[in-house]
Amino acid sequence: MSHDPDVSRRDLLRWTVGLGLLGSASVLAPGCAKQLSCDDVSALSTPDTMRRKSMKYVAVSPKGPEESCRDCKFFTAGAEGQCGTCSLVPGPIHPDGRCNLWAAT
Ligand code: SF4
Repeated sequence: MSHDPDVSRRDLLRWTVGLGLLGSASVLAPGCAKQLSCDDVSALSTPDTMRRKSMKYVAVSPKGPEESCRDCKFFTAGAEGQCGTCSLVPGPIHPDGRCNLWAAT
């Protein structure tokens, strides 16, 4: 058996480039970051939890991004990457969510 030093160098180059791309992807692709979840309602009282349910709040608007919480007049955005709040629906509110009370800003 002969040892081919070019194969080793090529493999090392591929490995190094691959690591570089992975590093770039984690910086450049915010979609790879942890998904925002605003579903923890454990701090809500039972009446507030029922109120939230009765308004049919969901974390992803079934009407698309044009009618999501971020564009609703009752929504207050949280800090970057954080849940927002709503003046009508108790609990953490996802910017992409929606409920039956949506109203354009
Ligand atoms: S009223 Fe409904 S759609 Fe508007 S911000 Fe509150 S939860 Fe979202």
